[in-house]
Amino acid sequence: MAADLTSLAAQFHAWTDERAAELAVFRHEHPSSVSDRLELGRGLMALLAADGWSLRGWPEDVGGSGGDIRERAVLYDQLEGAGIGVPEQFTVIETVGPAVIRFAPTLAKELLLPYLRGEELWCQGFSEPEAGSDLASLRCRAVATGGGFLVSGQKIWSSYGHLADRMVALVRTGSAESRHRGLTMLMVDLSGPGITRRPIRLANGEEELSEVFFDDAPVAGSSLIGEVDKGWSVAMYLLQFERGMYAWLRMARLRGRLARLARRVDPADPIGCREVGRALAAQRALRARTWHTIARLAEGETPGPETSVDKVLLATAEQAVADAARAVDLAAFTFATEDLDDARSEWFYTRAASIYGGSAEVQRSILADHVLKLPSEGKA
Ligand SMILES: Cc1cc2nc3c(=O)[nH]c(=O)nc-3n(C[C@H](O)[C@H](O)[C@H](O)COP(=O)(O)OP(=O)(O)OC[C@H]3O[C@@H](n4cnc5c(N)ncnc54)[C@H](O)[C@@H]3O)c2cc1C
Repeated sequence: MAADLTSLAAQFHAWTDERAAELAVFRHEHPSSVSDRLELGRGLMALLAADGWSLRGWPEDVGGSGGDIRERAVLYDQLEGAGIGVPEQFTVIETVGPAVIRFAPTLAKELLLPYLRGEELWCQGFSEPEAGSDLASLRCRAVATGGGFLVSGQKIWSSYGHLADRMVALVRTGSAESRHRGLTMLMVDLSGPGITRRPIRLANGEEELSEVFFDDAPVAGSSLIGEVDKGWSVAMYLLQFERGMYAWLRMARLRGRLARLARRVDPADPIGCREVGRALAAQRALRARTWHTIARLAEGETPGPETSVDKVLLATAEQAVADAARAVDLAAFTFATEDLDDARSEWFYTRAASIYGGSAEVQRSILADHVLKLPSEGKA
């Protein structure tokens, strides 16, 4: 039976109040380096797991305490509402975790709990040079070697790839011509031989992304997620959670930022007020839409290509909130020194929101072709 979400929210809220002193360190003054933020996040994950909160909403047979994805969404929302940043590690597990549970339950049983306790970090290895929007053209190859695989090739833009313990990697096992029919999903242990990782410095100075090189890297057969050559269906399943839950996590964060901005904007500043209002509307639209997607996922539905709407709304809201912060603090944006403050750093990062997880142009094409079924150009 589905949990009473209102009473869950109230119980968790009471917990954050009781533990206020212990939780103070996790309040929103985030350290600016990615590795420091992840380190801080580990502490909070350990606390949330020890008291059972982060086990809620995950299936019992892989170590969770049962319930569904809505419980997790409520807890993240409450945490941000209490002014405490949800550890970034959750963005990865919420993206790839449901697919690992569904297609590799044995792996999930072994790895989910350590992840939730903050002892593990994974990354998502889909994109490659020349294979981002056109994912089915990826070339990183896995060759079967009696019981396992040897992986060779390159991944790029993997968030946390240089810091992670494992990568959920989509690799080619079929011919190049087989496109999406010749792909396989693997959970690659990144501490193994034949793997080189390099961070990529972003425009805001952060080192979140990475490139990862594989040179005949051995990967155990037990690392298979789903079946050989059936990785595309794992990726498509995974994407629904990336669209719905990743967007929800970002939305929850935007909610807190907006509340802080609304307190700071000068009511006599028409541009600041207009931008904050516009951002609020975008964040509310994102909240309503992603909750709808999460509820559908909880009911076992397959939202499919409609979730591209969630991605478009996410990029719109991310950028609107950062633009509002710029309008409210124009002087800080214009005259800041080389050390970018948080708002400027966030503004730069949000420019990528219409690219990561599938670009805005590609999402609109998916909606046109697969949801609205508009006629293609050049076709009668
Ligand atoms: C902050 C950030 C985090 C990321 N994290 C990860 C991660 O963890 N794991 C991972 O695997 N990847 C990650 N990525 C990569 C991301 O998924 C890709 O950048 C994205 O899919 C676009 O691919 P691309 O960069 O190769 O651009 P391209 O596919 O080369 O696109 C370039 C431009 O062409 C446009 N374009 C391409 N094809 C079409 C088309 N058919 N119709 C119209 N326009 C088109 C695009 O909209 C874009 O503007 C991340 C990217 C960013 C910016």
